[in-house]
Amino acid sequence: MKTSIFCVNDDCTSCGTCVDTCPVKNIALMDSRPAWQHHCELCFSCIRRCPVAAIQIIPRAEIFSSV
Ligand code: SF4
Ligand code: SF4
Repeated sequence: MKTSIFCVNDDCTSCGTCVDTCPVKNIALMDSRPAWQHHCELCFSCIRRCPVAAIQIIPRAEIFSSV
């Protein structure tokens, strides 16, 4: 089961901006990639602030098909 509505693609440069911008510290870098935890407030700052637009929202149908 996926635990986040977000995914990151190979354009990620591991800059850490998404980690720093999250107001509720819901993102950590793990193996140089962002990993979302379980208390997202859906502000979408991580998506908007990523300098290479590497963060996407996983389509709803895809989330439920993996449960
Ligand atoms: S802000 Fe974008 S490029 Fe930087 S670590 Fe997060 S996903 Fe990767
Ligand atoms: S949407 Fe907002 S609260 Fe959720 S992980 Fe991204 S920056 Fe954090």
